[in-house]
Amino acid sequence: EPLLVLRDVHRHYGTGDTTVRVLEAANLSVNGGELVALVAPSGAGKSTLLHLSGLLESPQSGEVEIMGIKTSKLGDRGRTQLRRSTVGYVYQFHHLLPEFTALENVSMPQMIAGKSPDEAKGRSMELLDLLGIAARASHRPAELSGGEQQRVAIARAAANHPKVILADEPTGNLDPETSDIVFEALQSLIRVEGAAALIATHNHELARRANRIVTLRGGLVVDHQL
Ligand code: ADP
Ligand code: ADP
Repeated sequence: EPLLVLRDVHRHYGTGDTTVRVLEAANLSVNGGELVALVAPSGAGKSTLLHLSGLLESPQSGEVEIMGIKTSKLGDRGRTQLRRSTVGYVYQFHHLLPEFTALENVSMPQMIAGKSPDEAKGRSMELLDLLGIAARASHRPAELSGGEQQRVAIARAAANHPKVILADEPTGNLDPETSDIVFEALQSLIRVEGAAALIATHNHELARRANRIVTLRGGLVVDHQL
């Protein structure tokens, strides 16, 4: 079933002559277990679409639904709460905490969410294992390769069982071979967790492996063939 739905979403910035219309009646629906690649030129609105999907920004009109919850009716606190409990975010640069190990980085959001240390550790090891980096659990970010760092960041994003996983150029910083490994890890995670994933990428080879490719044209989200 669709876990992320954007319905007739309008989003513009500025007013009058300087208005930038980014999304005009944009529609998108992503099912659980589905990975959708978002491929579009710089400035087309990829970050805007990710921010709206992650409830960091609100549309001027239209609806963003996560797990069937209509978010336009929520206040700031409700949106923040829903984001924390349902959305996982992966950046182009990993943003791991340098003084903590991989295991601790993945455990952190779980501890903040109120899990016991043992519970958090168990979940973290499960994820590191799934992503092929269990042997690196006690390493700090500086002791990990770029691909390993990014897989730790993916594990951290997935730590609290998000239903929606958003990623902005998650392999933008990696060589092709490492990108492959990281993308495959992300795919298996999404399959196992049954989350809906929207991944912005410039990497056409990787995008081809997604369940679906979309782009932005004239303020709409449209299906895309590479
Ligand atoms: P992308 O991620 O595809 O590069 P963005 O979503 O960042 O595109 O931006 C889409 C358009 O909206 C760009 O023209 C950008 O300049 C404009 N834009 C984005 N955020 C803002 C903002 N906060 N204020 C004004 N314009 C913005
Ligand atoms: P930025 O890197 O754009 O400055 P912030 O630091 O403002 O992002 O992000 C604040 C919080 O929101 C972080 O916990 C981050 O994980 C999360 N986050 C960032 N972008 C998104 C998004 N599009 N959807 C959901 N959560 C996001």
